[in-house]
Amino acid sequence: MARVSSSATVPGSVRLTEEQILLRDAVRELADDRIAPRAAEIDRTAEWPEDVRRLLADHDIFGIPFAEQFGGLGADLLTLCLAIEQISRACATSGLILAVQALGAIPIQVAGTPEQQERWLPGLASGERLIAFGLTEADAGSDPSGIRTRAVRDGDEYVIDGSKRFISHGSVADYVVVFAVTNPDAEKASRRLSAILVETDRPGFKVTRLEHKMGIRGSPTAELAFDGVRVPVTNRLGDEGQGFAIAMQTFERSRPGIAAQAVGLAQGALEVAARYANERRQFGKPIADLQMVQAMLADMDAATESARHLLYTACQEIEAGTPDAARWAAICKLVGGDTAMRVTTDAVQVLGGYGYIDEYPVERMMRDAKITQLYEGTQQIQRLIVARSLLAKHQ
Ligand SMILES: Cc1cc2nc3c(=O)[nH]c(=O)nc-3n(C[C@H](O)[C@H](O)[C@H](O)COP(=O)(O)OP(=O)(O)OC[C@H]3O[C@@H](n4cnc5c(N)ncnc54)[C@H](O)[C@@H]3O)c2cc1C
Repeated sequence: MARVSSSATVPGSVRLTEEQILLRDAVRELADDRIAPRAAEIDRTAEWPEDVRRLLADHDIFGIPFAEQFGGLGADLLTLCLAIEQISRACATSGLILAVQALGAIPIQVAGTPEQQERWLPGLASGERLIAFGLTEADAGSDPSGIRTRAVRDGDEYVIDGSKRFISHGSVADYVVVFAVTNPDAEKASRRLSAILVETDRPGFKVTRLEHKMGIRGSPTAELAFDGVRVPVTNRLGDEGQGFAIAMQTFERSRPGIAAQAVGLAQGALEVAARYANERRQFGKPIADLQMVQAMLADMDAATESARHLLYTACQEIEAGTPDAARWAAICKLVGGDTAMRVTTDAVQVLGGYGYIDEYPVERMMRDAKITQLYEGTQQIQRLIVARSLLAKHQ
């Protein structure tokens, strides 16, 4: 995979490599043929699509964000986002399968020892094992300093007590990276947490609730309880007290995945709306001939393309090691999420009453789009990150 050095990168100069184009098109074809026909049913039944998980595993799609030494494809962040975008264009729940697998693996990739990586990454790269990312709690959403889950050292083990809320794939995952308080008296709040990988078959681990949601309904969002769960100290990722830093580093590489989900949703809705406009006739002609409809479609196209290019630039900047990774990740998620919400809402408008019923996919896409403005940090939190970075540069 071609690497672009930070100094050589002019933001906005993204060109996909031959490899990236081939992978994008292969994933799009697979999504069109095998995932799109399942999307409405996944939404209606709100059941975890194990068949889609198998499909992604069989086509090595889980391997995209993993190094070749662990059985992965060794691709870069942009390539991962191309795949998430194409899957989400057909089904946002399915796109999230890949995004969450990448999210949960990042703490191992950035903070794991070679032994830990060898132990856990091959199963994740093949899709045989699933992983979840457990940061949020009932009283700790935007503010992780509210985390109460404790991990207390007992010899060579940690004993974990507490609970996590809103954990994507928490009920189907084999592992959860749990952010727990190990240093309650740390001087800095940011040094209280450690990241610990918990195998979900350990005694004391329990899924206590699954949420009924507006969108991404096939993606199980779980409440998890940890009741004296014992894990070896060798399951800790990084040093004690590094948990917060690991979580923030993770978001720098995972937020683009959510932006990719958002761009895919916008693109999917745009295509449905354009096709419908050509077919639907009112006043004796296709509604595509009406300039107000054309203007809506043009704005949707321009917004989606802008969000896409911003995302691709962000991926390249982050991959090249920019010191501004948090800002790039926040900007692309902010713009991507707002674009997905606006474009999917306008797609419903283009379809009129038909947009509002489940005979067409745009109402599902509109419901799915909302989550991209909420998880992995709300849009308000993304704005805080961008503003902080901007203001620090102009003191
Ligand atoms: C479907 C789903 C899947 C999820 N998956 C995961 C997962 O896999 N792992 C995980 O750890 N978490 C996950 N989450 C949690 C998600 O990341 C949080 O819901 C999100 O970070 C917001 O936290 P909160 O819901 O507690 O909202 P709150 O933090 O209570 O925010 C409420 C409102 O206040 C605003 N607000 C809060 N603080 C500020 C501030 N400082 N400035 C301005 N406005 C502010 C917010 O923007 C929001 O509008 C998931 C959530 C959902 C709904």
